[in-house]
Amino acid sequence: MKNEYLLLTPGPLSTSETVRQAMLKDWCTWDDDYNKEVVEVIRTKLVQLATKHKGYTSVLMQGSGTASVEATIGTAMGKHGKLLIIDNGAYGARIAQIAQYLDIPCHIIAPGETSQPSLDEVEVALTVDPEISHVAIVHCETTTGMLNPIESFSKLAKSYGKTVILDAMSSFGGIPMDIGELGIDFMISSANKCIQGVPGFGFVIAKEDKLVECKGQARSLSLDLYDQWQCMENNHGKWRFTSPTHTVRAFFQALIELEEEGGVEARHLRYQTNQKTLVTGMKELGFKPLLDETLHSPIITSFYSPIESEYDFKAFYDRLKEQGFVIYPGKVSNADCFRIGNIGEVYPNDIERLIAAIEKSMYWKQAETVV
Ligand SMILES: *Cc1c(COP(=O)(O)O)cnc(C)c1O
Repeated sequence: MKNEYLLLTPGPLSTSETVRQAMLKDWCTWDDDYNKEVVEVIRTKLVQLATKHKGYTSVLMQGSGTASVEATIGTAMGKHGKLLIIDNGAYGARIAQIAQYLDIPCHIIAPGETSQPSLDEVEVALTVDPEISHVAIVHCETTTGMLNPIESFSKLAKSYGKTVILDAMSSFGGIPMDIGELGIDFMISSANKCIQGVPGFGFVIAKEDKLVECKGQARSLSLDLYDQWQCMENNHGKWRFTSPTHTVRAFFQALIELEEEGGVEARHLRYQTNQKTLVTGMKELGFKPLLDETLHSPIITSFYSPIESEYDFKAFYDRLKEQGFVIYPGKVSNADCFRIGNIGEVYPNDIERLIAAIEKSMYWKQAETVV
């Protein structure tokens, strides 16, 4: 089964045929050939991908990526904790929204969607407000495609003894990092981003001694990260409630394919080549990226929409879809943009074909020449 079009979206994204084929079998959730040979292997591989340091463990959690973020915030924060959040895009804002739903006091630092946070401002907050116990930041803000300075942020937070939560949803597996080296306590990602699996669950890689402290803290039964971890630990990979078996099996295959590609470094290089090919081609066609190139990530890129009055995103989108490419609408609140993702089963020659398709789809320019 071939796909009709390539998804140039930051998840769900285009997966390989072999990842999709891995779902064509039913699995029993209490058999060793599922739990021990699939779930437990996934848990071990995830920790190995995340860090060389000892003392980390992983927990898989049903739901989209947000469920894993919510499980982490709701389980890691004690009754008297306060959360400092960097909000420079929709996903930082979502963490703040989760905290509000859960009645968790927070301190929000919001530099705007096209700027990185000021570490001085973070330090002032940490000095002035000793109640802050945890800090949270998004690695790649998928809203714009911007990379946040997680290294210096985490280092600063650690120097104040804070627990660090990282939403690396759209970067883990696609950008090399060692969370032990960075001092991250909880890192969250999901199946359908850079590991190139299909949607259905997220996962958290956590410092074991931090997770142990979370017993009884969860504000939700189904999102109790500690309890889910205990169940997996004590029952050889068993999930507490129905596990998304087909999705998990596809993810297992996706992890093998990541290794076959040459690991995170090789994948990062491919994504970077995709992104550079994209930006070069788009600039030649007259498009302008939203962010300064120093802030770009290899994950997704935002471009300003054409200013011509004939331009309409949906019409542009439809023309590209007819030619086999699905792009993404913008999400920035104060600029009219659209986004193109580089992650998934997507190669530089696909991006070259995309650029040719975009050139053909610039009907607003054609309208100009007709006039
Ligand atoms: C995709 C994504 C999420 C989670 O989104 P879901 O739609 O819940 O899967 C969270 N944070 C970031 C940075 C993301 O890119």
